[in-house]
Amino acid sequence: MSFRFFPLKVVLAGLVVVACALPAVAAEAEPFGEWLSTLKREARERGISASTLDTAFAGVAPIPRIIELDRRQPELTLTFWKYLNGRVTEKRIRRGKELLVKHRTLLDRVARKYGVQPRFLVAFWGLETNFGDYFGAFPVTGALATLAHDPRRDRFFREQLLALLGLMDRGDIPFNAKSSWAGAMGHCQFMPTTYRQFAVDFDGDGKRNMWRSLPDALASAANFLGRSGWMGDRTWGREVRLPGGFDWRLAGLKVSKSLAGWQKLGVRRMDGRDLPKVDIAASILLPAGHKGPAFLVYKNFRTILVWNRSLLYALSVGHLADRLAGFGPFLSPRPDKEIPLSRGDVLDLQRLLQTRGYHVGTPDGVIGPKTRAAIRTFQKSARLPVDGYADFGLLERLRGRLAGPKAGG
Ligand code: CA
Repeated sequence: MSFRFFPLKVVLAGLVVVACALPAVAAEAEPFGEWLSTLKREARERGISASTLDTAFAGVAPIPRIIELDRRQPELTLTFWKYLNGRVTEKRIRRGKELLVKHRTLLDRVARKYGVQPRFLVAFWGLETNFGDYFGAFPVTGALATLAHDPRRDRFFREQLLALLGLMDRGDIPFNAKSSWAGAMGHCQFMPTTYRQFAVDFDGDGKRNMWRSLPDALASAANFLGRSGWMGDRTWGREVRLPGGFDWRLAGLKVSKSLAGWQKLGVRRMDGRDLPKVDIAASILLPAGHKGPAFLVYKNFRTILVWNRSLLYALSVGHLADRLAGFGPFLSPRPDKEIPLSRGDVLDLQRLLQTRGYHVGTPDGVIGPKTRAAIRTFQKSARLPVDGYADFGLLERLRGRLAGPKAGG
């Protein structure tokens, strides 16, 4: 998950937003040696042994490549279908099904103890590391020291580094452990604070090993989910059909209604049947705007968001889990042509909204909650479908009007 724990995991998209909001010129970092001495003092005060610190930091220096990766900004926003098709691939579905069979006994034991269905565990595993293929190749101490020393998000990563040292001190994590560039470890890419709080020893060898022990790694993921509110007898949500004239303002996680309530408003399963008669709360999501697919999402969907705040990630976990259970692809048609907005387009969009008096925060080229709220307000006043979705049509409309004779009106 590269870097997604916040406070448990930091969401990729979330951190990009944080990064963009930072000033162009970051504060000057203090010399690494001095910084390290202070950090070691703090670690000693927290009870970490001097020998652990000596071993952990032997030869550790900032890794320039990590700073480079951390500063990198994706040029194009990912559209729903591009994101989904890149992650829920036929190959991954096939392999996930094989692994469900291969590890059935283990997965059933984990499911009984922590209440998370095997297909969801395998879906997380597949999305995080392609079932253990990519653990990341950076030395974890060096990676976290680099990011904790860099002034941009030093507080968050300092806490991660100190948690890591504590785990090394008690023998949970080997000194030469590898991670993603942002310090996420093992099969399910746990950050150190998550490791400390949620990792479990499920194979009974007395250690919590997220790399070499699949039982430990999967049970730890299940423990995290179980303690974050997962309901083992429920699914994540489903693709639905919205009635003509649906009020788009009802979409989004802020609006929650019972299934009976949505049924009354005309929401149906994709095959036209009634929604299940179960008393659960649900929200409607339109990840590709009102012209794209619609989803009804339940409580477990919100728990996936605790793992990773990205809506597209959560939809991918849910969909992959469904595919592993033999359900088919989403039924809504994929548009022939999807034009992703570039960062420059999004900046333009934000500036144009700002010029018209809508609050978007500081234009940063990233669509976040403020931009979506501003889009909704604009859509409402322009009598457009209020779905809060940014696409080229919207951008062109904003550009066109401003370029016209009534510019600034
Ligand atoms: Ca173990």
